[in-house]
Amino acid sequence: MVDLSSYNTLRISAKASNLIEINTADDINKLPPENVFFLGSGANILFTKDFPGTIAKIKLSGIKVLKETNTDVLIEVAAGENWHDFVTWAVDHNLSGIENMALIPGTVGAAAIGNIAAYGGNQEDIFASLQATNIKTQKNQEFSKTDMQFGYRNSFLRQHPDYLVTSVTYRLSKTAHLNTSYHATRHASLLSTLNQINTPPFTIRHVFDAVVKIRSEKLPDPKLVGTAGSFFKNPVVSKEKFHQLKQQIPDLLAYPTEKLSYIDPEEQSEYVKVSIGRALDELGWRGKRIGNVGTFPQHALVIVTYPGATGQEVYQFAEMMRANVKKNFDINLEYEVVII
Ligand SMILES: Cc1cc2nc3c(=O)[nH]c(=O)nc-3n(C[C@H](O)[C@H](O)[C@H](O)COP(=O)(O)OP(=O)(O)OC[C@H]3O[C@@H](n4cnc5c(N)ncnc54)[C@H](O)[C@@H]3O)c2cc1C
Repeated sequence: MVDLSSYNTLRISAKASNLIEINTADDINKLPPENVFFLGSGANILFTKDFPGTIAKIKLSGIKVLKETNTDVLIEVAAGENWHDFVTWAVDHNLSGIENMALIPGTVGAAAIGNIAAYGGNQEDIFASLQATNIKTQKNQEFSKTDMQFGYRNSFLRQHPDYLVTSVTYRLSKTAHLNTSYHATRHASLLSTLNQINTPPFTIRHVFDAVVKIRSEKLPDPKLVGTAGSFFKNPVVSKEKFHQLKQQIPDLLAYPTEKLSYIDPEEQSEYVKVSIGRALDELGWRGKRIGNVGTFPQHALVIVTYPGATGQEVYQFAEMMRANVKKNFDINLEYEVVII
């Protein structure tokens, strides 16, 4: 049995039957066809029990420029590369489109599967294609952006866990297309942080630095504290429902739902994505601690663990949060974290 506490950022001490490191394509052939869990950095998972199977720790590495035009660069990145290291590589090469997603923990393969996003940057906007191996058939397959059916922290491959992502290809721009529109009332906006640390005209690196600064101040560092980032998805509600909620919480914020593939495009304007952290504050969840589990003092959507926390303890804490939100606001919170 292998202890997984150093393989998940919530630091849960679950056990697996065995763990195999995937460093090369040949290592994939050695995996059993059943009962395998593909693991990146474990920054988006909660083990609520032991895993009676094989953990395949994805460590495939390498960054390769496939094609360069006057405007764009097509780059293939192995699935086990650290996401932030790749963002840093891109910024060092003065390539744009990825800088707003600096400092998101995890690997490149998981970034595509979970369609990560932050501060105005979206995985699907720079995604070109990916390569994956079906573990049952050992066949390799390419997935285009259309094949991936990206949604909010969702994709076709998130729903089909037999595919091991081996590499992801991104299209980045040689021209800076800076997106500085991110704004949240209680936290620094991107533009105001940019203005604090630099003078215009802003560069790709300035945006990268500003995002790193905001995230370092607002979110816990998984090297220092047990966490998986936002535990729940921000819920999508009708505009009518949002107006009702605003009567209870006047400074509640909401964002447009365009790009949510599970909502009919014609109906998307009827819905908004609510910033649920503010509603959790209202219910007293920010900075709350029960036993070895709590929420981060700066952000109620972020669950943190203290030494000795078990997966069941975290799950029960999260379920209490969900029940409380359901009771007070009649909203069903969905897990952003993968529960095992
Ligand atoms: C402090 C903190 C802040 C965060 N902030 C953000 C944020 O701003 N935006 C955001 O979107 N997310 C955020 N997250 C969540 C997390 O960083 C992302 O979900 C990240 O992509 C997880 O990467 P990972 O390698 O750790 O994946 P893991 O947790 O190891 O795996 C996640 C899922 O992907 C699957 N998987 C992993 N690798 C592969 C592969 N190669 N092939 C097939 N399946 C695979 C796993 O089986 C699992 O289902 C944050 C997390 C933390 C801890």
